[in-house]
Amino acid sequence: MTFSIHGLAVSRGVAIGRAVIVASSRMDVAHYFIEPDEVDKEIDRARAGRNAVVEELYRLQTSISQMGPKEAPHELNALLDVHLMLLQDEELIRGVKGWITDRLYNAEWALTTQLEVISRQFDEMEDAYLRERKADMEQIVERVLRAMRGVASPIMAPARNSRRQGQQDLLLGDTVDVPLVLVAHDLSPADMLQFKQSVFAGFITDVGGKTSHTAIVARSMDIPAVVGARTCSQLVRQDDWIIIDGDAGIVIVDPSPIILAEYGFKKRQVELERSRLTRLLHTPAVTMDGEKVQLLANIEMPEDAPAALQAGALGVGLFRSEFLFMGRHGDLPDEEEQFQAYRRAVEGMQGLPVTIRTVDVGADKPLDSSVHDAAHLNPALGLRAIRWSLADPAMFLTQLRAILRAAAFGKVQLLVPMLAHASEIHQTLAHIEQARRTLDKRGQAYGPVQLGAMIEIPAAALTLKMFLKYFDFLSIGTNDLIQYTLAIDRADESVAHLYDPLHPAVLQLVASTIAECRLQGKGVSVCGEMAGDVGLTRLLLGMGLRSFSMHPAQILAVKQEILRSDAARLEPWAQRVIQAENPAQEMAQVSAFSA
Ligand code: PEP
Ligand code: MG
Repeated sequence: MTFSIHGLAVSRGVAIGRAVIVASSRMDVAHYFIEPDEVDKEIDRARAGRNAVVEELYRLQTSISQMGPKEAPHELNALLDVHLMLLQDEELIRGVKGWITDRLYNAEWALTTQLEVISRQFDEMEDAYLRERKADMEQIVERVLRAMRGVASPIMAPARNSRRQGQQDLLLGDTVDVPLVLVAHDLSPADMLQFKQSVFAGFITDVGGKTSHTAIVARSMDIPAVVGARTCSQLVRQDDWIIIDGDAGIVIVDPSPIILAEYGFKKRQVELERSRLTRLLHTPAVTMDGEKVQLLANIEMPEDAPAALQAGALGVGLFRSEFLFMGRHGDLPDEEEQFQAYRRAVEGMQGLPVTIRTVDVGADKPLDSSVHDAAHLNPALGLRAIRWSLADPAMFLTQLRAILRAAAFGKVQLLVPMLAHASEIHQTLAHIEQARRTLDKRGQAYGPVQLGAMIEIPAAALTLKMFLKYFDFLSIGTNDLIQYTLAIDRADESVAHLYDPLHPAVLQLVASTIAECRLQGKGVSVCGEMAGDVGLTRLLLGMGLRSFSMHPAQILAVKQEILRSDAARLEPWAQRVIQAENPAQEMAQVSAFSA
C-alpha cells in the first residue's frame, strides 16, 4: 500500500530505489558487493562465522555442566539453548543466503539486513516472550559478526560501479541491478563519509535538521536526501520500493505505477536541468552590471578536490579538516598524515587557494559515531571546535604545523572556527607562532598563510573590529550563526521549523559582517549552507557579498542566479529585506531587479 512520510528536504532531486535499512552503529559492518563467482565463498564465510559461534556456545555449555549444582546458573544454560536454536533458525539462514545470492551483498551486510527483517517480525508479535527473543537474535548476530571479523574485509561502503547503471532502468526488476536507497534512524557524519563513495541513490534518516552535518555530507554527495523523517526507518521494510522527493522532503513508500511514472518523469527533468547547467561551467561568475563573484567549494576530504575543479570552483573556501579525524577510534592522524592530506588537497586544486579550517569536532560531529557525548548536557555549547583545539595544545600544534608545511606547496588560508573571545584569538595566534618556531628549529619548510576567523557566534559578529584587527579575512558560518542567534539546535528536527536563515536578527548579523569587511578592505565570504541556496543568492549579492563557498554540486545553479542579477539594483532592495519585519515577504519583490 502506498503511503508517504514527510521530512526535511536537504538535498535536491528525485531518487527511486529499494530500501536498505541500516541498523544501529552497534551493527556497523562492511557493506560491499561481491562478484557473482564469489557467492559460494561468501556463504561459506557466513557459515564459518555461525559454526564458530555454535562451537563457542557448546563449549560454554560444557563448562557450565562441569560446575557444581550450586554455581551453575540455570538461566544461562536455558539462554544458551535459545541462542543455539536461533542459530539454526531457517529464516535467518535462508535470508542470509538470499541476500548474498540475489543481491550480491557481502556476508556481514546480508546478516544485518536479515536481522532487520526478523526483528520487524518479532516486533509485530503479540506474545511478549517471543517479542523479547529479538534481543537474543541481535546478540547471536553480533556474535557471528564478531567471529567473522578475523576473515572480514575492511569496512567500506558498497562501491560505485557498473551497478549504478541500474538506476536508469527502474522497472527492470532485476534483483542485482536495482538502485538502492539508504534508510537509517541516524547516521553520524563519519558514517556518511563511509557511504560517500557508495552506490546509494538517496538517503533518508529519522533524525537531523537541514544543516546537521549528516545533511551537509548528503548534500555534498549530490544525491537526493530527506532527514528528520521521524519514524521512517520503522515504517519502511527492508527492500520496499521508495521514492525520495528531495525538493519537497517527501518519502513515498511502495509507490503505485502511476506515481512511479510521474516521479520517473520528474527525475528525468531534474537530470536535464543539471545537464543544461553544465554549459555555464567556463562562464565567469559576473553579474549583469559587471560585478565579479568568487565561487568556492566546501570539501570534506582531499579526494573531493577534483569534483571542486570540475564544478568550476575558483578554490576551496572551506576544507572541514575534522573529517580526517573522525571514525578513527581515538587513533588521530599524526603530523605527517595530516600534512600529506593537506598537501594532496592543495596540489589537487592546482594552484588555486585552499582554505583549511582547523578541526571542528564536537556537537553533532563526534569523533566516533558510537561515542555519544552523554557527559555534557549541551554539546553544541560545549567543548567544540577551537575550544577543543585549545584544550589540547599538542594536538592543535600538530595540526598547525601540518597546515603550515602544506602551505609550501600552494596557496593556503588557515581558518579558525567558533572564536568568540579575545583570549581565544590571542592563544590561537600564539600557537601559530609556536608552530612556526618549531618548524624553524627543525629546519622544515613551510609557507605563508592568510589567517581567517569564522564568524559563527553572535558574539563574534558583534565584535567585528576586534576580529579584523587580527585576521586577514572572515568567513561567515551561517549554519552555526543561525543556531546560536536563534537558540535552535541545528540537528534537532523537532525545532527545524524555527531554524530560519531569514530571521531579521540573522540577516542583520550577516549584513553587518559583510559591510564591515568591505569597509576595511578585508576579504569576506559565506561558507554556511546559505551560500549554496539559490533562493538566497540575490539577497547575499545585495548585501555586498562577492565570495560564496558551497558544495561543488551547487556552484552552477548559484552561478546562473548571479549571471541573471543586477548587483547595484539589488542593494537597496536587500536593505529593505534586512529591515523588514517579515523578510521572506519582502523578498518576493526580487523579480523586479533581475533578468
Ligand atoms: C557553519 O557553521 O556555517 C559552517 C560552515 O561550519 P559547520 O557547518 O562545519 O559547523
Ligand atoms: Mg560551524
